[in-house]
Amino acid sequence: MICLTLMEDTIEKNFAVFMENSSFVDIIELRLDMLIDPLLVEPELVRSKFNFPVIITCRLVRDGGKYSGNEYQRRDILYQFSNAGFDYIDLEMGIVYPEVEEAAHSHNTRIIRSYHNFEGIPDNFEEIFRELASVVGEIPKVAVFLEGSCQVYKFFKIIEKIHDIEEKIVLGMGDFGIPTRVLYKKLGSFLSYCSVPGRSGAPGQLTPDKMKNMYRSDCINNSTLIYGIAGNPVMHSGSPNFHNTGYKRSSLNAVYIPFLVDDINYFFKLAGVLPLCGFSVTVPFKVDILGFLDRKSPEVVRTDSCNTVLRNGGMWEGYNTDLEGFLSPLAAIENLKDRLHRAAVIGAGGAARSVIAALKSLGLEISIFNRSEERGRILAEETACSFFPLEKFDLLSGYDLIVQTTSVGMIPDVEKTPVQGYRFHKDQLAYDIIYTPLKTKFLREAESSGAEIIGGMDMLISQGALQFEIFTNREYPQEEQKESS
Ligand code: NAP
Repeated sequence: MICLTLMEDTIEKNFAVFMENSSFVDIIELRLDMLIDPLLVEPELVRSKFNFPVIITCRLVRDGGKYSGNEYQRRDILYQFSNAGFDYIDLEMGIVYPEVEEAAHSHNTRIIRSYHNFEGIPDNFEEIFRELASVVGEIPKVAVFLEGSCQVYKFFKIIEKIHDIEEKIVLGMGDFGIPTRVLYKKLGSFLSYCSVPGRSGAPGQLTPDKMKNMYRSDCINNSTLIYGIAGNPVMHSGSPNFHNTGYKRSSLNAVYIPFLVDDINYFFKLAGVLPLCGFSVTVPFKVDILGFLDRKSPEVVRTDSCNTVLRNGGMWEGYNTDLEGFLSPLAAIENLKDRLHRAAVIGAGGAARSVIAALKSLGLEISIFNRSEERGRILAEETACSFFPLEKFDLLSGYDLIVQTTSVGMIPDVEKTPVQGYRFHKDQLAYDIIYTPLKTKFLREAESSGAEIIGGMDMLISQGALQFEIFTNREYPQEEQKESS
């Protein structure tokens, strides 16, 4: 079940949020601690207003909630609500409220017994879980903050060990924990929480629309093929929307999830446990990933950069679709060969490697401009290009094509450009491979000088479609596939 956590300060506002999102969710969690004065709210009126499965909970500040009253007042609130016949009541581990529990039992309200840890996975995690699960009739719930790829891997391994506990709620909080929220059914969790933007019930919650329509998380089952994208940052990525839309249109039982990664070793361990069938690779891992590949496509060998990894017969195969994806919008430029002779590439990371190989295939003379001299010089030597430190960007005037491949200017730093103060001229072509925002400051400045511009979205779509083919052996569906009769 997908559970919408309602975090507004009045019942009316909560109801409005519920009405807007009810088609995406199966159950709601009413956070009584968020209400202005929950003691003044009539539980029966709330019960009759929400004709839907409801979990009630009231968290004290010390438990990560907002209720600032004392323990006795909280108990009174929960007692009153327990008598109104809600479906579930969430009580923290260690709370002993016999009258609340009795009222819950007499109204067939199931008790969710929860353990939250905002510091990470405790050493005795499994023990805690088993203790929670030992109370007959209660549903054990654990929510722990996951900080780093190692903890995500550890979390999935521990949950594997408690697969015998059939009815449970498990989730990892924070951006590293997002895969646990999407894959809640794989983890054997009977629900996963979500919330509307700006009203997050806990770190890492996705929106109801994304949970239902983008990730189709309530349809995930043991046969669902899992794909994803590994990066840091990664939440800005347009790839989950692109690939999940493709799976949906093709009626494929597959899901594509963002994996925030801080340690590629642990990410590979996790990829083995899930298991992942394939994944995209983004900033800053396109080069680091090479050491983990069992096979490399000719494009990976040529660029020393990999953005697509496929598991094939137990082997990790690396591909590079950036190279072809980068060329795709250039193909639409008239008289390309006559117009472009000298290209400047800003940046020397994983994407720059593909860009340089692509530009070489067009026969252009290339110069690299990079912040770190060492990295820039090494790439220039490997690719037979010239190199200039980024501070020398005034030299960019001598180039017909300037390609921006650094991550500078990407959301949220939309007012940044790696070439602050540079004045483009109208005969230049400026190409920024960043796609969030669609028009970076680099492109806005180029456009205002009359230069022609290309943003990164076309490249994203084109390289993504090639990735889709590698992952699924099918063409990317531009439209919904017709049901075969
Ligand atoms: P990467 O390997 O981490 O390389 C990052 C590059 O950015 C390096 O050259 C780095 O310079 C430079 N850089 C970072 N911060 C900087 C700063 N503050 N000032 C100057 N230079 C800075 O990343 P990547 O994989 O190449 O990706 C780079 C960008 O391309 C990302 O925004 C990514 O989303 C985008 N991209 C888009 C597509 C698409 O389909 N449109 C495909 C691939 C990549 P140093 O060497 O000095 O650290």
